[in-house]
Amino acid sequence: MLQTPRLYAKLVGYIIVTLFNELRRYTNATLVRQQARLLGSSSATARDRNIVVIGASFAGEHDARLVSASLPPRSPYRVVVIEPNSHFQFTWVLPRFCVVKGHEDKAFIPYGGLVSKVPEGAVRWVKDRVGEVREASVSLEGSGEHIPYEMLVVATGSGVQGGLPSRVNETDKLEGMKRLQAMQAGIEKADTVVVVGGGAAGVEVATDAKALYPDKTIVMVHSRSALMHRFGKGLQDAALKAMERLGVETILEERVVDEDAGAGTVTLRSGRKISCDFFINCTGQKPLSDLLSHLSPSAISPTGHIRIKPTLQIGDDNFPNIYACGDVADTKTPNPNARSAMRQAAVVADNIVRVATGKEPCYTYNNMWADGFIKLTLGLDRSVSHIGDGRSELLFPGKETKEELMVGMCWWHMGQKAYEDPYMDGKDGVKAD
Ligand SMILES: Cc1cc2nc3c(=O)[nH]c(=O)nc-3n(C[C@H](O)[C@H](O)[C@H](O)COP(=O)(O)OP(=O)(O)OC[C@H]3O[C@@H](n4cnc5c(N)ncnc54)[C@H](O)[C@@H]3O)c2cc1C
Repeated sequence: MLQTPRLYAKLVGYIIVTLFNELRRYTNATLVRQQARLLGSSSATARDRNIVVIGASFAGEHDARLVSASLPPRSPYRVVVIEPNSHFQFTWVLPRFCVVKGHEDKAFIPYGGLVSKVPEGAVRWVKDRVGEVREASVSLEGSGEHIPYEMLVVATGSGVQGGLPSRVNETDKLEGMKRLQAMQAGIEKADTVVVVGGGAAGVEVATDAKALYPDKTIVMVHSRSALMHRFGKGLQDAALKAMERLGVETILEERVVDEDAGAGTVTLRSGRKISCDFFINCTGQKPLSDLLSHLSPSAISPTGHIRIKPTLQIGDDNFPNIYACGDVADTKTPNPNARSAMRQAAVVADNIVRVATGKEPCYTYNNMWADGFIKLTLGLDRSVSHIGDGRSELLFPGKETKEELMVGMCWWHMGQKAYEDPYMDGKDGVKAD
């Protein structure tokens, strides 16, 4: 009975700590800006010591933003961000945009917001993929350039071979939009859609598809005894209830062992065959840690994550100047998400700024249960928000009025006006209305 007030009290504590840290960073960045205005800042050529950030999604972009805003104006350091994607790819809305038409362009947000807000020369943006990490430099796959670093942040996240609905697996916005449109068309054409994996992406795509096309047969196959099995019982029940309400057939404790696109069937581990016109795989995300596997094999955990110290330096004493954060880092976060990735990025940024000003890294990352907050859509017009600490949970059912969900908020966060993107000029063939 006391569980709910206890959870609310803990939540208030979490909010206070988070606000305090945000305020500390904001104050520091404001001071730096004032100093730069009064005393000037290092020219681009004087900034010849690189802090290289690999990957510019939730973790890497946030880290680069905080470091470049907090470095003293006369710092000899600059941040070099290396990211192959033409745009920030907003994962949260991918399941929705795989089903619903007309919003695809909104999932790809221009990156310019970061560079425009920091002193000239404090950030170099490189659109390329890192192919190799060496002791003091990284090499780029596209241009072949070797970029030296004094500090390195690995924020390469996780990937999935099958792509959508979890990842786009295209670097270019236009190509990414085409992939979303292809999936929308596949679902629209199919009589029976089989979705594998009852985590958040699977539940969202299955409930959206059934809500939009009530006459289609949508089948969910999940290997565990409950949907959303990493979360509390309340959320598991809410997900199952939504499936039942909409009429999604849910098969638990089963695996797909074969998919025969020609015959239009999938075979389950039990031998049962299900007809399938369109197959959606929502499983198989893996941390992208390969880049470090040659330089520091001991830093790679059996799960493929990068081992880290509490300071988020990698777990290899030979490389105190290499940090990891986000989905790729072995932080033991129960449900890794954008919030935990950004909190880790902030810890890395705090430590890097200390080192860049002649101090030792001292900030540490601790899992915070409230990072695991999730808002799960359950069809086109409703959702449930969930927060829990493993002992008890709070559930907040909600109505969803916007088909494109909260994507506009992310454009604002990225320093962009929703949904203005000069990249799309002249590309109206695939642009959403
Ligand atoms: C479908 C879906 C929905 C989600 N919904 C939510 C949600 O509602 N709320 C929430 O908080 N979280 C959500 N998440 C989780 C969240 O997206 C991840 O936790 C978050 O993206 C992790 O951020 P990251 O920066 O660590 O890694 P990623 O987002 O995986 O980004 C890694 C970046 O590194 C780049 N990269 C990779 N390799 C290289 C290389 N060799 N060289 C250069 N760059 C490279 C990639 O291009 C990418 O931009 C969702 C995830 C998915 C898949």
